[in-house]
Amino acid sequence: MNAFSFYNPVKLIFGKGQLEQIKEELPTYGKKVLIVYGGGSIKKNGLYDEVMTTLNATDLEVFELSGVEPNPRISTVRRGVELCKKENIDVLLAVGGGSVIDCTKLIAAGAKYEGDAWDLVSRKAFPMAALPFGTVLTIAATGSEMNSGSVITNEETQEKYGWGSPHVFPKFSILDPTYTFSVPQDQTVYGIVDMMTHIFEQYFNNATNTPVQDEMCEGVLRAIMETAPKLLSNLHSYEHRETILFSGTIALNGMLQMGYRGDWASHNIEHAVSAIYDIPHAGGLAILFPHWMRYNLKVDPERFARLAVYVFGVDPEGKTVEEIANEGIDNLRAYWSSLSAPETLADYNIDDTNIEVMVEKAMVNGPFGNFMSLEAEDVRAILKASL
Ligand code: NAP
Ligand code: FE
Repeated sequence: MNAFSFYNPVKLIFGKGQLEQIKEELPTYGKKVLIVYGGGSIKKNGLYDEVMTTLNATDLEVFELSGVEPNPRISTVRRGVELCKKENIDVLLAVGGGSVIDCTKLIAAGAKYEGDAWDLVSRKAFPMAALPFGTVLTIAATGSEMNSGSVITNEETQEKYGWGSPHVFPKFSILDPTYTFSVPQDQTVYGIVDMMTHIFEQYFNNATNTPVQDEMCEGVLRAIMETAPKLLSNLHSYEHRETILFSGTIALNGMLQMGYRGDWASHNIEHAVSAIYDIPHAGGLAILFPHWMRYNLKVDPERFARLAVYVFGVDPEGKTVEEIANEGIDNLRAYWSSLSAPETLADYNIDDTNIEVMVEKAMVNGPFGNFMSLEAEDVRAILKASL
């Protein structure tokens, strides 16, 4: 493996009934708290009332920012930054999924930055500080609750980029599986596809001698794949929600990426697609990732074959390495389809009209991908195969 340093200061608070802890956590950062949430799911499932009741038992002054979109937009971030500056907010609390948390991260950094928050996403400037914030996670998917990354869309320029900074690790994150009971079937599937893809993107790396990391990735993948169908037939199972919630966090909190860099190319391509079409992040990944795999198989067929045998249950007997590897990809596709994840861009009514625009957006910072570096022609081929 390569030399690495691991840093993750997030206090993870996991389990039933843990929301109470915001009463101890938030006041350590100040008096004025801004609650950030999405389009209303927390009002429907009662979590909003629970948070407010809990905060009413403190001396905190509470402000609110609602309406964070799935694929959070820079205009909403700007509203939040303005509010923080105007009201001298001390600390933020994101109550929601990856979109709400990602939006909160940029608001927190933007509140400590003089210029426009988009500069921090476009890398025109780098955050030097951020307001402290905590999260109450409501959907198992991104891992944003325990990492320092964020993905923001600029709806005016149709750009969607990931950015990150050590200043935007949450101070704490509360994960109570019961808050994910109300996540609908389709969003539950998207979350599962997202976390699996995060693990795949790390598994496909160029380091040597990573037996511990390989086993960890394969083990988490097996646990997710075994649990997902059971959860989908019983969305209120505490046990299965718990397993999936924990998996999403482990998948992208840095623990599976020690000793190498992940690939992340399919995430980049997906961002180019959803910047234009505003489709669910993991809906895009479910379509693109098997094609990324097929396209990159030649880089290291042995690695794909190992995954096929250890995770996708392929019997290697009497088959070539390429046959085993391809059967593994077939099995992943079939598995995601069995969960009703989308298969082609046509499922979202996306045709070849904007292929070149998507290629251009994906290539904005030059070739990308650490397992295999993709050029424009590679991205074009993967997108065309996904139509
Ligand atoms: P999300 O966009 O936060 O939420 C998706 C939908 O699920 C929303 O409509 C939301 O409704 C609803 N929802 C959330 N919790 C719910 C609950 N408990 N009950 C019912 N409905 C609920 O989903 P996400 O997959 O977590 O986040 C996706 C975003 O994260 C994308 O922009 C993606 O690019 C980004 N991402 C970030 C990272 C990272 O590391 N930072 C990694 C991968 C992807 P409401 O709005 O009404 O709450
Ligand atoms: Fe993702």
